[in-house]
Amino acid sequence: MPPSPDLVHLACHIIPIYLLINYVIPGVLIHPHATLSSVITVLENVRRDVTRLLAEADPDRVTTAKAAELMTLFAEIERLGAAGKVLYTRRAAEGVAWRDEGHRSAASWMAEKTQTGMGEAMAVLETAEALKSLPETTEALRRGELSGPQVKVITHAAQSDPSTEKELLQAAATRSFKGLTARAAEVRAASRSAQEEHDHARAIQRSRYLRTWADPDGAFRLDARLAPLDGGRLLSALRDEADFRFHEARKSADHEPPAAYLADALVALVAGEPAAAASKDSKHRPARATVSIRVDAQALRRGHVTRGEICHIPGVGPVPVAEVRRQLSDAWLKILVVDGVEVSTVCHVGRTVPAHVQSALEERDPTCVVPTCEVGHGLQNHHWDVDFVDCKTSTLDNLARVCRWHHDLITYEKWELRPGPGGWEWREPPGGCNFETDPPWRDTG
Ligand SMILES: [Zn+2]
Repeated sequence: MPPSPDLVHLACHIIPIYLLINYVIPGVLIHPHATLSSVITVLENVRRDVTRLLAEADPDRVTTAKAAELMTLFAEIERLGAAGKVLYTRRAAEGVAWRDEGHRSAASWMAEKTQTGMGEAMAVLETAEALKSLPETTEALRRGELSGPQVKVITHAAQSDPSTEKELLQAAATRSFKGLTARAAEVRAASRSAQEEHDHARAIQRSRYLRTWADPDGAFRLDARLAPLDGGRLLSALRDEADFRFHEARKSADHEPPAAYLADALVALVAGEPAAAASKDSKHRPARATVSIRVDAQALRRGHVTRGEICHIPGVGPVPVAEVRRQLSDAWLKILVVDGVEVSTVCHVGRTVPAHVQSALEERDPTCVVPTCEVGHGLQNHHWDVDFVDCKTSTLDNLARVCRWHHDLITYEKWELRPGPGGWEWREPPGGCNFETDPPWRDTG
């Protein structure tokens, strides 16, 4: 069968345009000698040709293989277009064109020109600004190797530590977008000092929320922002319950998407009617949902991560080491201490408190041990001194029971509990506390 006239037409036009976009335009963009008017003329011609091609295109009449090739070409053109947009954005924002057109900010002007929201426009402006200090990312962008979302993730992370630029570009070239995002989150976490890490964790905790609303079709919706450790706990409990429901459904050959089982799990858990816990089959009855945290031995000793180290919950993201150390009293934490990539030790801290130690502890500390606090309900074990890397956590001497309120002060406000001569000593955080202006967010006492 002879090729359709459309196909011949597309082949004759797309290839020259491909060459033009891949070789001519990048050359023009990086050569300051090229006259501006020729750049604009070339681009206008390309736009005219692409517009005409699209107007005449009949996707149903090309072979699927050709369609795949054309889709790939257009994706490349899209990346080049995004690159040109970002490269010229900063300079455009420096001028007064946006003010002349009646906009209150460059971002608002950008949003209108690019037909996007303000958030997206601001992100492009930030990306353009960050590129000034990231020459290799700029080059990769010019070559059309990065999509808009990729360059945004790279500049955001490499800004805090430009020495990671090469590594992030490598991740963009070899990993999925999700993989790149995860790597970028680790880079950002490792570039923070212990204090910055603490402040960052606190800022996330303070900005937590759960919102609900109804869609126009009547569906109930919710959206939440949680600290990573809380997110890890939630996810772990949801997965246990959803897995159970999935296996039950499979017995009756009933298949729904995994997200549907997660939604059922959420409702059942919150309503206090988890099917997994009610199961007669004990192997499906999960103990409390556990969260596995992978952390470098060195980082665990030091108290925070540095370059090349990790402390994260798989599937959730980085968690501050200090947070992990302070939350050790809970039975849901499983710490996988890694040396390089190998897991060298597994600390299942909460469960390493044997029943007889727990009984002795409850006997010794019937109320919160913080002096003058007499709260006797909702007490939590606090490991005030733990040899993390060796998992030596279970003696009565390094355990104390505290109320939720004091546990939160230790966890988020850096208050300290230490054994003193006549009992427990409760110490203000180094640098003092700031209750007057900055009250803690949760009163659970
Ligand atoms: Zn207390």
